[in-house]
Amino acid sequence: MSLDIHARVQQLLPGIRQDLEDLVRIESVSADPARAAEVQRSAEAVAALFRAENFDSVDIVSAREDGGAPAVIAHKAGPEGAPTVLLYAHHDVQPENDHGEWDSPPFEPTERGERLYARGAADDKAGIAAHLGALRVFGDDLPVSVTMFIEGEEEVGSDTLPELLRRHRDRLAADVIVIADSGNWDIGVPALTTSLRGLVRADIEVRTLTHAVHSGMWGGLVPDALITLSRLIASFHDDAGNLLIEGLHSGPAADVEYPEERLRAESGVNPGVEWIGSGPVVERLWTQPALSITGLDAPKVDGASNTLVASARAKVSLRIAPGDNAANAVECLRRHCEQHTPWGAELTFTVVDTGEATAIDATGPAYDAARAAFTEAWDGTSPVDMGVGGSIPFIAEFLETFPEASVLVTGVEDPDTRAHGANEGLHLKEFERVVLAEALLLRNLAQG
Ligand SMILES: [Zn+2]
Repeated sequence: MSLDIHARVQQLLPGIRQDLEDLVRIESVSADPARAAEVQRSAEAVAALFRAENFDSVDIVSAREDGGAPAVIAHKAGPEGAPTVLLYAHHDVQPENDHGEWDSPPFEPTERGERLYARGAADDKAGIAAHLGALRVFGDDLPVSVTMFIEGEEEVGSDTLPELLRRHRDRLAADVIVIADSGNWDIGVPALTTSLRGLVRADIEVRTLTHAVHSGMWGGLVPDALITLSRLIASFHDDAGNLLIEGLHSGPAADVEYPEERLRAESGVNPGVEWIGSGPVVERLWTQPALSITGLDAPKVDGASNTLVASARAKVSLRIAPGDNAANAVECLRRHCEQHTPWGAELTFTVVDTGEATAIDATGPAYDAARAAFTEAWDGTSPVDMGVGGSIPFIAEFLETFPEASVLVTGVEDPDTRAHGANEGLHLKEFERVVLAEALLLRNLAQG
């Protein structure tokens, strides 16, 4: 008799939920050095979960002898000749920040309405739990060989991930890589994340004077640095808010409707504020570059004197489109700044950091298998090809290290998950579908 995957997931859910809650109670905040022992404890808890599933090997590894964050690598063989699937998630979490903003204690999983609330209940301990659930469906008769890779420093930028991938390349090599750290389009509408923007951050500083001088004595002749910097900043966009930097790449986005009310509610934009830019909304969010000023160094208003400001500095955050690359974007931004710094002011342009954009080729047998699995798990609703405006640079690391593998970016989040915020919550019904979809995916990959 063939395995009834739907029924099996139903049976397993209470146990999966229990394991998720136990993981969530561990305060694995990777950004907090005082909780390094908790990150270690969480790696050990994850390792124990896989040992209990009869894995052939389970190891806690780190990229540095002096202690890069602990990751878990585990392997369980499937039938001879079956494809190997790498399942990724991360066991570290964002800081919970002000406990007062939470409606229940951040590390005490609490069910309210349709959600389970806690830091990490979704991002990304539910990713681990979903993988675990999908594997439990098959017990010791896995349809494919499975390698688990559960990282411990995603929330602090995956600094040692490239080294981990290099060191354990042979153990991690797979035909299909499932990265469960993104989300679905809406409650009841699944998605595959197929593009992410990259990021270039740079500091721009302008100087017009060797030292500050009296604004009455010299104003009208000598430009102050703040006005000068403001004109440079103003040169980035036209009046409609379209970006004017030449040479940056833009591309088309999937044909997805993003309703106006949903945009307004999710963004928190003030009533009456207009959108900037042109073209379909999803292109502006996912497949066009976008520039923001995220910081400014200048004298404070309180205490400002009658002085011409000699220098001023701004932090520029430039999101780059899938298909572009960070080196090109840096050069385009630098050239634009050099050409648009007015009045002969001195410009200092400093690159802070960069992350590559990702465009995934969402075709081929693994994508067919995933679309069929998702459509079945969501009762006939097929997945949307979703872009993400933000960046997960580590996905590019996987694509680069394993160019032959098909990379599927999935996840448990929905538009109201509030990952990284207060009251992060996992939608329990959607979680059930995620577990089901992943089990069906493993079955489909074996048949493909
Ligand atoms: Zn995450």
